[in-house]
Amino acid sequence: MTCTRCEYGTARRFGYFGKRRIQRWCCTSCKATFCEPVPKLGTHYTDPETAANALSLMLEGMSIRAISRVTGLHKGTILSLMTTAAANARRVLDMRIRGVLTRYVQSDEIWCFVGKKRRNVRKDDPVKLGDQWVFVAMDAETKLVPSFVIGKRTRETTLTFLRDLQARLTNARFQLTTDGFHFYERGVEDVFGGTVDFAQLVKLFGDYGQHGDERYSPPRITEVISKVRDGRPDPASKALTRAHSGH
Ligand SMILES: [Zn+2]
Repeated sequence: MTCTRCEYGTARRFGYFGKRRIQRWCCTSCKATFCEPVPKLGTHYTDPETAANALSLMLEGMSIRAISRVTGLHKGTILSLMTTAAANARRVLDMRIRGVLTRYVQSDEIWCFVGKKRRNVRKDDPVKLGDQWVFVAMDAETKLVPSFVIGKRTRETTLTFLRDLQARLTNARFQLTTDGFHFYERGVEDVFGGTVDFAQLVKLFGDYGQHGDERYSPPRITEVISKVRDGRPDPASKALTRAHSGH
């Protein structure tokens, strides 16, 4: 055992301390007492290996209850690990994803809800309940996600998202393709001020099929109309053609 103070390599056992009976050591050179340094994961007691396992199951889409059964961790523990991991991931993203050079960026919004769906939201419910949208920007070539923002599908969220995206890219001109959401039209103009080639894809959805089982899948996209909003987006570019296969 290496001493944590003088780094001398010889120490002897020196009893335990605390409820968890942590082994204490005493350095034979400087007489300092110390315990074995444990890799720490924020303020969590969960050992890092189990925590990493729980988090990777979460990334695979396993439910919290299922992860709890597989790992033996408490539901609350898993949720707080998720919060810590998310905060750390956010920090890494904010630090590292800067000055990204990109040619084609596509953006879309993913719907989800917190607590209840919109029709069940009451007037005095907190804002975080009900529908929430994840605005996602993706580099069409590298699949890097330079920016995402979670919020209501409003003008404010759209602007926050576009400003965050702009702050992470280089000033080089690129092509931005969004869905037909109307707040993009003014938003892109306000934030990028004509420095991007901007197109919107308007998806037209067909009716549900006659067969019962089709009720369980989203309606088929019958037509995609692309509208050039600004600059000269390349109509044959990957960013415009790929979007068809998206949801
Ligand atoms: Zn020592």
